[in-house]
Amino acid sequence: MTDKKKKSLRFKLITILIILLVLAGGAFTFYWYTTPQITMNGEKTMEVTMKDGYQEPGATATFSFHDISEHIRIDSQVNDDKVGTYKIIYTVEYLDKTATAERIVSVIDKEPPELTLTDGDHVSIRPGDGFKDPGATAIDDSDGDVSAQIESKGFVDPYNKGDYEVDYWVSDSYGNEAKATRTVSVEGEPVREYKGVICLTFDDGPSTEVTEDILKTLEKYEVPATFFVVDYGNDQDKIKLMKRALKDGCTIGIHGTSHSYSKIYASVPDFMNNVTSLHDKLQQDLGIDARIMRFPGGSSNTVSRDYCKGIMSDLVKEVQKEGYMYTDWNVDSTDASGNNIPVKKLIKSVKENCDPEKYNVILMHDSDAKKTTAEALPKIIEWAQEEGYEFKAMRTDLPSIHHRVNN
Ligand code: ZN
Repeated sequence: MTDKKKKSLRFKLITILIILLVLAGGAFTFYWYTTPQITMNGEKTMEVTMKDGYQEPGATATFSFHDISEHIRIDSQVNDDKVGTYKIIYTVEYLDKTATAERIVSVIDKEPPELTLTDGDHVSIRPGDGFKDPGATAIDDSDGDVSAQIESKGFVDPYNKGDYEVDYWVSDSYGNEAKATRTVSVEGEPVREYKGVICLTFDDGPSTEVTEDILKTLEKYEVPATFFVVDYGNDQDKIKLMKRALKDGCTIGIHGTSHSYSKIYASVPDFMNNVTSLHDKLQQDLGIDARIMRFPGGSSNTVSRDYCKGIMSDLVKEVQKEGYMYTDWNVDSTDASGNNIPVKKLIKSVKENCDPEKYNVILMHDSDAKKTTAEALPKIIEWAQEEGYEFKAMRTDLPSIHHRVNN
C-alpha cells in the first residue's frame, strides 16, 4: 500500500467516525431533550353538578411524534355524589421518562330539595272548620331530609269563603331553593259563630292622651280589646301603654306605620312595606308577631282609587298571602265622623248596631283627638254587659269581618 493510499483510507475512517459520532450525539441529544407530552381532553378545571355527574374526558400522550396514549394512568378521587373539589392526576411513563398533568374537578349541587305538599296542592275546608296545615316534606340530594327547615306563609281565613294561597319554601345548604304553593278553598256559606260576642277595636293609637283612659276602663270592667296601631316613633310612654294592654289580655294589630293615604295606597309594595315595617317594629319593641291588621279607611275605602286604581282588590289578597288576617268592622261607633262627637251619639250608635245574634266588631279610635270615645266607653261596656254580650280581643283564630271591596 502506497503512502497515498494509506492516507486516503485513514481519511475515510476518520470521516465515518465523525459521522457516527455526530449521529450518536444527535440521537443522544434528541433523547435528552424529548419528553412525553400529555394533552388533556376538556378543560383543566371543570365544574360538574351532582345530577349530571363526572364523565372522564381522558387525555392523549405523545413522545416526539409517537402516540403513547395507551401508557397513560389516571388517578381520580372524584366522588360525584358528594360536593367538593377533587384532583385527577394523569401520568405517562415512557423510556424511563415520566410526565404528569392535573385536572381540578369541582362537584357542585344545583338541585333544590324535592318539596312535597302533604295532601296535595289543593285542599278544601268548610267555613268554621279551621285550617290545620297538613305540612310538607322535603328530601335533598346532598342534605337528606330537610323537612324540618320548611318555611311557610299565607293566612287562611276559615270564616270567609274564598281561595287562599299558602306558600312553602326550603333551601339546601348550597342555596338551592324549592317552592310550592297550596290553594286552600273555604267552601260553602260562612258559619257565623261567636254570636253575642263584641270585639272592641281602637284604631290610630296609641295616644298618651286617650289610650291610658281607655286601658283604665278596660281594666275596671275586665274587658279585653284590640288596638290597631300606627307608628309611635321611639315614644317609651306609648310602648308602655301597649305593653300594659298586652298584659291585660288585649291584642295589638297593625294599622300601618303611616296613615297617609297618598303614600300607602300608591302601590302594593308601598302598602306592604308600610305593614311589614310596623310588624317588625312591634316585634322588636313588644316581642309580638302581630298578624291581624286593618286597612286605613277599611278594605271598602274608595279614597285609594285616587292613588292607585284597583289596589284594594290586590291588597286584600296580598296581605293574606303574606300571612296577615285583615278585618274591617260591622258596628261603627261613628267616632271617625269628626272630633268630639258627643258621647251620647257614640253610645247610641253602638247600641243600635250591635246584635246579640251576630259577632260584633266595633270600630272606635284612640288617637289624641278622640277623648269622647274614652268617655263613652264605660257606658258602652256597662250596657253590653247588662245585655249579656261577651267581650273578646281579636285573634287570628276568631272570625274577621270583610267589607265589600270597592276599588
Ligand atoms: Zn285609621
